[in-house]
Amino acid sequence: MGSILDGKLVARALRADVRRRVDARREPHGTPGLAAVLVGDDPASRVYVNNKEKACAEVGIRSVGRRLPTETTTEALLDVVGELNEAADVHGILVQLPLPAHVDAEAVVQKIVPSKDVDGLTMVNQGRLLAGSPGLRPCTPLGIMHLLAETGAVLAGLEAVVLGRSQLVGKPVAMLLLEQHATVTLCHSRTRDLASTVRGADIVVAAVGRPELVRGEWIKDGAIVIDVGINRTAEGKLIGDVHFDEAARRASWITPVPGGVGPMTVAMLLANTVSAAEMAS
Ligand code: NAP
Repeated sequence: MGSILDGKLVARALRADVRRRVDARREPHGTPGLAAVLVGDDPASRVYVNNKEKACAEVGIRSVGRRLPTETTTEALLDVVGELNEAADVHGILVQLPLPAHVDAEAVVQKIVPSKDVDGLTMVNQGRLLAGSPGLRPCTPLGIMHLLAETGAVLAGLEAVVLGRSQLVGKPVAMLLLEQHATVTLCHSRTRDLASTVRGADIVVAAVGRPELVRGEWIKDGAIVIDVGINRTAEGKLIGDVHFDEAARRASWITPVPGGVGPMTVAMLLANTVSAAEMAS
């Protein structure tokens, strides 16, 4: 039976570290600030933004909430982001996605100045990741790498299989794994034989959004399994992209859902905000 990689525990330690960094800067430089832009009244988005703001408060980061009505136009949103780009007391800007369908979400995200792009989604920060130069990295992939570091595994030379090629998770985590000298295979919906590809993996990162797609028999003995997926069952339970009970029998380490990658994503957002503030002064 594999050991559980407890994201809540690791995230708690990370938040304590962020708190120390915030405290250390407050006197000379002021409090780091994070602006969360929320458009409309999507209940899930509201919960996410509230949680992020609560997490900010716990580590001493100042939240600058911008709640805007559903009918907000792209132009108005671009103006809001433009103002936040200029605000000296705002160090990080996040635009909660998805935005309403009439808004040009790409234009809004790309308007964020790269030095405040704490979600790491601007072209500049994505390009920096690809080039291997310093920049703000997306939070979920950073959280995954931090969890992998917790296992003590040396990634150099290991076979890593990433399921999912999104801009938010799959592609950036593949680049970060490559940076650590893993041999990376990036799978997606057209991959011919997912099961046999995963069977060769020392590290499996599942980010597809398909409940329990990855079965225990796909997992190589001793593999590390990181389950990014968040899927809600008909009964309202949250489950991952990996069949946890089956996979845990073979894995050396496995993340639970919930309580694995999720808490790390929020902790990394806080860490990125302090990093952005540190880089600004
Ligand atoms: P996404 O943008 O929908 O991308 C899903 C990826 O999975 C795509 O690349 C897609 O392939 C691939 N895929 C879909 N079905 C597949 C299949 N049957 N076999 C192989 N690949 C398949 O999703 P995302 O934003 O990356 O998120 C993925 C999951 O992670 C979701 O459940 C999301 O809720 C969760 N998530 C969790 C966190 C967290 O903090 N825990 C953060 C972000 C996301 P194609 O490219 O070919 O379509």
